[in-house]
Amino acid sequence: MSESNLKSMAELVSLSKRRGYVFQSSEIYGGLGSCWDYGPLGVELKKNIQARWWKAMTYREDISGIDASILMHPTVWKASGHIDNFTDPLVDCKKCKARFREDQIDLTKPCPACGEKGSFTEPRAFNLMFSTKMGAVEDAASTIYLRPETCQGIFTNFLNVQATMRLKLPFGIAQIGKAFRNEITPGNFIFRTREFEQMEMQYFVRPGTQMEHMEKWKEIRWNWHLENGLRPERLRWAPHTKLAHYADAAIDIEYEFPMGWGEMEGIHSRTNFDLTQHQQYSGKNLQYVDQADNNNKYIPYVIETSVGSDRTILALMCDAYRLENEGGGESERTVMRFKPDIAPIKVAVLPLMKKTDLEDKARPIFADIQKNYRAEYDTSGSIGKRYRRQDEIGTPFCITVDYDSLTDNAVTVRERDSMKQERIAIDNLKRYLSDKLQLN
Ligand code: ATP
Repeated sequence: MSESNLKSMAELVSLSKRRGYVFQSSEIYGGLGSCWDYGPLGVELKKNIQARWWKAMTYREDISGIDASILMHPTVWKASGHIDNFTDPLVDCKKCKARFREDQIDLTKPCPACGEKGSFTEPRAFNLMFSTKMGAVEDAASTIYLRPETCQGIFTNFLNVQATMRLKLPFGIAQIGKAFRNEITPGNFIFRTREFEQMEMQYFVRPGTQMEHMEKWKEIRWNWHLENGLRPERLRWAPHTKLAHYADAAIDIEYEFPMGWGEMEGIHSRTNFDLTQHQQYSGKNLQYVDQADNNNKYIPYVIETSVGSDRTILALMCDAYRLENEGGGESERTVMRFKPDIAPIKVAVLPLMKKTDLEDKARPIFADIQKNYRAEYDTSGSIGKRYRRQDEIGTPFCITVDYDSLTDNAVTVRERDSMKQERIAIDNLKRYLSDKLQLN
């Protein structure tokens, strides 16, 4: 058997549309630049990944979760530095007006869009925040922003969470939510979009201990990606060469996408910058009283782990993709080798034919499986075609109900990767699936 990996992003975009993972936003109107909709399978994938992150990050006594509002007081963004500094250097081609990030193109070379040489405008700072108006009165004071990162909702709630959960340092606050950036050069499918989701955790520590915590979090986060099933040879560390104004250390976890290495997660030591700024701008005391250290008062330091849901999904899809026996006619198949916990559909129930007696047998089996797992019931087309569809959506197990099932009360269970088939008694199915799927 021959097999190959994903060769281009276009292949994945096409599979995503064909099978219902991801669609272009507003497609019937020609689409909206770099905005995407998760379809029926994509939303399952996303929920599974987010649930894994939530469990890994909050099923522990030192971390609590929140879900903060996307819209925040505008002064938050003044304090955080986003109004003044959250910019990319933008250049325009003087001829075709195409826009580029200065740091992503070579200004001595011709314009990548129209081929004109040496005709770029001077770089200017372009703020990536989306602004909007709040309330009915349109004046300058009503301008607010869609959050460009989720963590500021964590910083502004630092004392609320600490007090209500009676947390002692070191402790963390975790959140999953949407963020928005008016990226100049978005692209590569869901890698860089203008609306995306982040899974972030801010870990508050005693000043001076941040580097030891950073090391611990680096290890935890690296292992999380491995536990999701990503191939280790496609992961690497990428230390930042230029630190953001608030950071004293920063490193990314990168994945080797079809278009090259790209950041999936950032682990940053953000010092006490954000809380100090919010204390100054809000006039509220954000110090922590350290009872373990003579009631010493200080602003904690922060280690942040920030991973994109969408980039994690993209990496997992690229990684899971296999084309087997290419050009082999009937034996060619595309398989998404997701780990069962991540697979959008866990089990498919397939009556061999669309016949009443087979369906009467299969329906109760499906109903029973659905109590525990996201499952599909499919009667359309040949059994071979139905297996191919389930392979392409990464379903770990297919259960076929055939004429023998009517008398022997057993079904054929087919495993996705090996395609091995086993005859299992219907009474033992529940046990069989829970042993094999090992969802955790
Ligand atoms: P990049 O350098 O690729 O623009 P960044 O360093 O600005 O990313 P962070 O601000 O560290 O990214 O955000 C943390 C995570 O959020 C990233 O690792 C990524 O997974 C995700 N992310 C950031 N921007 C986008 C985007 N435009 N589209 C999708 N995911 C994003």
